[in-house]
Amino acid sequence: MATQIWTPLDYDKPGKQIGHLNLPHSVHRSAYGNIVIPLGIVANGTGPTLLLTAGTHGDEYEGQVALTRLLRDIDPAAINGRLIILPMLNAPAARAGLRVSPVDGVNLNRAFPGDPLGSPTQAIAHYVSSVLFPLADVYQDLHAGGSSLDYLPFVSVRASVDADLDAKALAAARAFGAPYIQVWGYSPDPRLSTAESNRQKIISLGGEFGGGGSVSRRGLGIVERGLQRLMAHLGMIAPLDETPPTPAIEVEVKGRDHYVYAAGNGLFEPLCDLGDHVEAGQTCGLLHDPDDPTRPAIPHHFATSGLLICRRHPGRAERGDCVAHLATPRRR
Ligand code: ZN
Repeated sequence: MATQIWTPLDYDKPGKQIGHLNLPHSVHRSAYGNIVIPLGIVANGTGPTLLLTAGTHGDEYEGQVALTRLLRDIDPAAINGRLIILPMLNAPAARAGLRVSPVDGVNLNRAFPGDPLGSPTQAIAHYVSSVLFPLADVYQDLHAGGSSLDYLPFVSVRASVDADLDAKALAAARAFGAPYIQVWGYSPDPRLSTAESNRQKIISLGGEFGGGGSVSRRGLGIVERGLQRLMAHLGMIAPLDETPPTPAIEVEVKGRDHYVYAAGNGLFEPLCDLGDHVEAGQTCGLLHDPDDPTRPAIPHHFATSGLLICRRHPGRAERGDCVAHLATPRRR
């Protein structure tokens, strides 16, 4: 079944076009209405196609800002190749500042490869899988911790079953020049955007560039500079006039034991900061119950040693919430 999403823009036309995808959405307020999803296409010459998405999760903002500025500022004459840019891919979620779509409650990054006749979020995933991925040589999906998590900013790759593809993705991640490269070796969910792009043999990058539902200045700087370096690496723009960045610290997440989950409901007091190196058995934090001060705080411990790359952002936690996760150094 073909997608129902349509656009008047032409993916093969040289120059810069900024417009929308239209996702037909027939509701009480608007019988023949559409959900509009911003789209930019910048094309010149015969170079590769780089597909860039942000707002896959609507409350993750550094990528949305970076892609908005890139699309506004880029001169098509300065590139060789094609940029396809969607700065707020799950547009209803991004407009609402929410991780999942308020229209259907679906998490776009758990919806791939999608369904053309499914809910709006499933239809967006299907459009990316069936229309955009076949156009792309390289793909990057820009994330952050969103409302519930804070991340140490990093560019990431997801291990696939194709060693040659993984080597090309890692080379692109190194060219991106972020201070950390995260290799997701533990990926139990096949419904992620980069899981699908890996299946389609597209060189794929991700990244977490901040969190807490805010715009991290440091994370935004890393992603904006990184996108320029990535385009230079792909030969889409001239080499940058800069001192090469310090090689990244490469880390990986290999298993569930890298994560710490709340054992009850209460206020989580973290005892470690992002960027700390922690030891197995070390106390990650204390869960307090201000409703009943007679109850002792519940200590939470790390199951393994590593670098603290992610921490829960809000103070309140419920049983089962992820309060922290680690990554471990990766052998090059
Ligand atoms: Zn995300």
